[in-house]
Amino acid sequence: MAAMTPSTLRIGYRYRPKRLAPEYDAIVIGSGMGGLTTAALLSELGWKVCVLEQHYTAGGYTHSYERNGYEWDVGVHYIGDVGAQTQTRRMFDFLSDGQLEWAPMAAEYDRFYIGDKIFNAKAGKQEFRDNLLRQFPNEQRAIDDYLKLLAASGGALSAFGMGRAMKSWQQSLAQPYINWKTPDVFFRNTYEVLRELTDDKDLIAVLCGQWGDMGLPPKQSTFMVHAMIARHYLYGGYYPVGGAWKIADSIIPKIQKAGGEVFTYARVSQVLVDEGRVTGVEMKDGHRIECACVISSAGIDNTFNHLLPADVVEQTGYKKKLAHVQPSFAHLGIYIGLTGTAEELGLPKTNYWIYPDNDYDAAVDTFLEDKNAPFPVVYISFPSAKDPDYLNRHPGTSTIEIVAPAPYEWFAQWHDTIWGKRGEDYEAFKAELGERLMTHLYDKVPEARGKVDYFEISTPLSTDWFGGYHQGELYGLAHTPERMQQKWLRPQTTIKGLWLTGQDILTCGVTGAMMAGMLTTMSMVGARKMAPLMKRIYS
Ligand SMILES: Cc1cc2nc3c(=O)[nH]c(=O)nc-3n(C[C@H](O)[C@H](O)[C@H](O)COP(=O)(O)OP(=O)(O)OC[C@H]3O[C@@H](n4cnc5c(N)ncnc54)[C@H](O)[C@@H]3O)c2cc1C
Repeated sequence: MAAMTPSTLRIGYRYRPKRLAPEYDAIVIGSGMGGLTTAALLSELGWKVCVLEQHYTAGGYTHSYERNGYEWDVGVHYIGDVGAQTQTRRMFDFLSDGQLEWAPMAAEYDRFYIGDKIFNAKAGKQEFRDNLLRQFPNEQRAIDDYLKLLAASGGALSAFGMGRAMKSWQQSLAQPYINWKTPDVFFRNTYEVLRELTDDKDLIAVLCGQWGDMGLPPKQSTFMVHAMIARHYLYGGYYPVGGAWKIADSIIPKIQKAGGEVFTYARVSQVLVDEGRVTGVEMKDGHRIECACVISSAGIDNTFNHLLPADVVEQTGYKKKLAHVQPSFAHLGIYIGLTGTAEELGLPKTNYWIYPDNDYDAAVDTFLEDKNAPFPVVYISFPSAKDPDYLNRHPGTSTIEIVAPAPYEWFAQWHDTIWGKRGEDYEAFKAELGERLMTHLYDKVPEARGKVDYFEISTPLSTDWFGGYHQGELYGLAHTPERMQQKWLRPQTTIKGLWLTGQDILTCGVTGAMMAGMLTTMSMVGARKMAPLMKRIYS
């Protein structure tokens, strides 16, 4: 295999100790959506923030890369709730100073292939309901009850988030209100809740057709996260015009305007703590940056198992707490470049989800026992079809991406090797898995046959290499009912000056991480200082 050339699509400023300002008001570890949102909101309040990103480009899972004349996203396939002046849209507009534009996907934005049946998710609440009713004419009551549960979960989701942003004593006071807002189903497993509404296994499968968006099948996932995702996409999917990297690219100027910077190639090796108080960070090159305020957006595992001194984690009780959370699934990604435009090849603005049958949990269990069993889910996305600007950057071409689960353990033996040089046995194993996934592509998109000019496969080791997820976690912590009830997963830690943000303190998703950034900022500065900013964002 020819050596792969590193991507030249890079944003952020390369870290060198001499490029640092003498002082910062806060350091943010990680430039994903959680870190950038926190940094941008603090910047708006006049803070000078230093964002430190270990990768060669900023954006975390929102970064894009290019190779051989093609460009792919790695963790942004569609975003919901941005087609109207929603809270989500207003926050994106504010962070990007209106520079981020959104392109709608097709009205049938998700298609589920469940065994030999095909179902589509339709944009719009009424359309969603009518479409389901057409496919399940005897299930009107279940469908309406389901929509009622989604509606009831909306207010509870906000209360849940606000509760996490409060100080512990405030949260205790607010708990009766939060409980009152929270429907019984909130922390139950998704399957149980849906099973009470209907016996129709196909209907349950269709309602859970987006389970890959949170990484847990219905018998393991939490209804609140299911509801959050279902609500998020109820009005369809949207794609950032110009590619996923435009998200970070449009936010960074806000941080720079206040005197801050987003540094790349900037791996933090330790969060420095002295007598229970944060004093700064130590970089991989040994350089120390002093600062009394550090916000970690690098995830719970990184923060508590890799960045903080072990004795501090033990003494502050976090070691025990970590036993209640696990890493989410890891995944394979296939990044495909094709000759011919999306239009010429007929590539859709619809995501495909391919399932062997309607029992998603059983399919996962079988696959984990036997790697030759069918993939429990194969997801296919057509980024160049969704991005109206793609052809301006890469004329005459198109791209496809495939995502499928794959346990980290299958690849652990190559952990200590270097990206692009992991050896022939690794390449052969990847190629075998890749071939199986390409069969799914050709089955569902025969037009792609003969047009594939280039493809490469990422494994959980790539997720570790580029994103710093040591188990190749797709979504940070697994969204189990137990995790969702861990009240310590909040912005404020018991270590003075250390704050958390990003997908692990709320939920996965670009919007989940963005809202976590908002909650972290609110926790840090307090409601009084945050109120005028919120007014500017939302009025
Ligand atoms: C394949 C895939 C598809 C997805 N599709 C979608 C989608 O379609 N829509 C959607 O809304 N969400 C999607 N997501 C989820 C979404 O991308 C994430 O939930 C979200 O972007 C996470 O943001 P974050 O800021 O919490 O974390 P991240 O984006 O992971 O940011 C954390 C950052 O910390 C950095 N870091 C780690 N350790 C260190 C260190 N020691 N020093 C310095 N930096 C460090 C990492 O390099 C990383 O950049 C997808 C995710 C994946 C993997």
